[in-house]
Amino acid sequence: MAARTRKSFTKLGFVEEDTDLRLLSSHFFPSKVGGKPSWLCLNNIPTTESLQCSKCNGPTLLLLQVYAPVEIDHRDDTFHRTVFIFVCPNVPCCSNGYNGNFKVVRSQLPVKNDFYSQDPPDENIRDDEDMDKYPHAGKFQSLCCVCGARGTKKCSLCKKTYYCCKSHQVADWKAGHKRLCSEIGSDGTKTGAGIRQPSAHLLFKEFELVTEDEEVNEDSSSNSRSDKERLAEYQQLMRSEQLKGLEGKYTEEDLETTAVHETEDDQQFLKFKKRTESEPDQVLRYCRGGEPLWVSAFHKPSAEEIPHCSCGAERVFEFQIMPQLLNFLGLDRLGDSLDWGTLCIYTCKESCPIGNNYVEEFLWKQDFHNGR
Ligand SMILES: [Zn+2]
Ligand SMILES: [Zn+2]
Ligand SMILES: [Zn+2]
Ligand SMILES: [Zn+2]
Repeated sequence: MAARTRKSFTKLGFVEEDTDLRLLSSHFFPSKVGGKPSWLCLNNIPTTESLQCSKCNGPTLLLLQVYAPVEIDHRDDTFHRTVFIFVCPNVPCCSNGYNGNFKVVRSQLPVKNDFYSQDPPDENIRDDEDMDKYPHAGKFQSLCCVCGARGTKKCSLCKKTYYCCKSHQVADWKAGHKRLCSEIGSDGTKTGAGIRQPSAHLLFKEFELVTEDEEVNEDSSSNSRSDKERLAEYQQLMRSEQLKGLEGKYTEEDLETTAVHETEDDQQFLKFKKRTESEPDQVLRYCRGGEPLWVSAFHKPSAEEIPHCSCGAERVFEFQIMPQLLNFLGLDRLGDSLDWGTLCIYTCKESCPIGNNYVEEFLWKQDFHNGR
């Protein structure tokens, strides 16, 4: 018998590998992973200083961006709305429960705005079509040719290529600008918009992010026994692992006590596993105003730990990034690498009016407990 399901209030995000990357440009209002940001508001884009890692002060890179318009009574400025998440690629900046290596910004625009036509964009791109005729942030300011943030420094030789910081200039030089620099002449070769990308490999791999409604199993009561069994099995496993690892350092009794403290965490982890096992490739869960699906009972934020928006309004949970995303970024997961349990994004409850500007929002990082 097929399990009865219903739609939940959560939308799930999946990585789509086969998209023509040109369909992820700004005027298509994409949700996407990696690559350069497809900025929504095309001027006043954030400087590298406002996006830099709080730990190493280095530049961050786009992790993903989510196009998420919201409807708010008597307001027209949230017709288009995108939340951007950036992360420092330096592995040592990524530590348990620490969020300073992540930056989140929000941008929103009314349907009548300074940049885009009110008509939906034509998705039939011909191969010979010049994407440069469409609106993009490079038309309004210089952009770093490596990461797509604001480019305030330029190559002193060709005077055509812009960078956000010294480290991206050095990286681009090594990646191929050394060779290209002399070729970039007065013939109008495009650089600012990122047509030439010798350093594209420095970014996270780019994918479209597609969403669908989550379906949850209605018959949860019939599963409760197997849940208990699974939990018992799991605790047994953990205990035998611990016994092996501790080499008789602790008594059985000590381990009993530990097990009691760990039970709540086991249950949270099982809840997480169970809710995600039917769609194991989900990389995003979107539920504005809802509750995150925690991966652990430890290190959940209290209300006071979620700072209010600069407008004074409180922030609400909007979406979370799942650990599965790590599999798609082109990182080496076997060695030392970026890691997280889940990244929860909290945004202004009012999605307050910001005009043609970007404002900072908040991210909470929760890690797996017990090295799961
Ligand atoms: Zn860093
Ligand atoms: Zn840069
Ligand atoms: Zn140059
Ligand atoms: Zn606000």
